[in-house]
Amino acid sequence: MTYQADEKGYYGEFGGAFIPEMLYPNTEELRQNYIRIMNEPSFKKEFDQLLKDYVGRPTPLYFANRLSEKYNTKIYLKREDLCHTGAHKVNNTIGQILMAKKLGKTRIIAETGAGQHGVATATVCALMGIQCVVYMGEIDIARQSPNVARMKMLGAEVRPALSGSRTLKDATNEAIRDWINNPVDTHYIIGSVVGPHPYPDMVARFQSVISAEIKTQLQEKEGRENPDYVVACVGGGSNAAGAYYHYLDQPEVGIIAVEAAGKGIDSGESAATSALGKVGIIHGSKTLLMQTPDGQITEPYSISAGLDYPGVGPMHAHLFKSGRGEFISITDDDAMQAGLLLSKLEGIIPAIESSHAFAILEYRKFKPEDVVVINLSGRGDKDLNTYIDYFNL
Ligand SMILES: *Cc1c(COP(=O)(O)O)cnc(C)c1O
Repeated sequence: MTYQADEKGYYGEFGGAFIPEMLYPNTEELRQNYIRIMNEPSFKKEFDQLLKDYVGRPTPLYFANRLSEKYNTKIYLKREDLCHTGAHKVNNTIGQILMAKKLGKTRIIAETGAGQHGVATATVCALMGIQCVVYMGEIDIARQSPNVARMKMLGAEVRPALSGSRTLKDATNEAIRDWINNPVDTHYIIGSVVGPHPYPDMVARFQSVISAEIKTQLQEKEGRENPDYVVACVGGGSNAAGAYYHYLDQPEVGIIAVEAAGKGIDSGESAATSALGKVGIIHGSKTLLMQTPDGQITEPYSISAGLDYPGVGPMHAHLFKSGRGEFISITDDDAMQAGLLLSKLEGIIPAIESSHAFAILEYRKFKPEDVVVINLSGRGDKDLNTYIDYFNL
């Protein structure tokens, strides 16, 4: 029994590749090559070197003394907030740009909602001198102007998606259309453990550096590689997949996934996919997603842009369905308070996505001797205006 993807990209009943026939050559080229390329010594060497010198890895595993005292348990923070660009997303974009180069691609496309993945993609394209086109809904372009400016400074072209609700799903449609039209020279960088096989598995493998480091660092600090619990927030699920990866098949390690309940699970304004989702297909993958009774995708809501996604990656759907993962959903209000608390107790202002993971400490009791690792997926600089408005700072 394993919680990893099988050869066809299935996690239990979830995953696979449900794509239009015209996209088949693109994903097939990637599927046939990704594991072989990731195992090439020259690939590994360049990936590790860039993670070290450019991203700043290994990120610290920090024992949060005052937070641990308050909640009477041993809490460690995995500091992905200290990565270059301010979050874990760059681990994946570094991996995929190197993959694209090995496949001989000369052009990168991506889609972005809040702009964080667009910035992480534009960053690695600048690093490698590769052309970059980022699709973004027209509405998102208007409400995320600092990230649009960052992408432009980094040399990317931001193309507005003008159809539908003019948000993330429309940008995704545009990116897929582009990829179908440019199958030979273009690689599509997907930003989370979502999309058709092999994306969820490939992205999880790139992010798995997080749990690989936790193992070594915990061995140094606690004399054992395994914590009792690993906690992470789940939007699409990439930071969580990375934090869980090397613990998935070790049942003594509890896996806790935190979703955004928005204004409340039953409020109609939420992104709590495990609580509200049904089996369906989104972005080419069979997974749990929020939908109307006739199968139309429901518009998600969360105060944190990164958790505002109507589905979860197939790994997480399987962790939920099988009971391997414990799923907790946290409201906007509880997340905001947890972000403020972490700032005051530890001097660390977290991204609001990450604040959701900390908020469970108010509800989920741990034993004093438990070792609890919380993945601090990103820093709060990008969310300062939201914090200012919420707390009247
Ligand atoms: C994008 C983002 C997330 C959510 O994405 P996952 O793929 O679920 O990790 C979480 N935290 C931060 C800081 C982000 O930028």
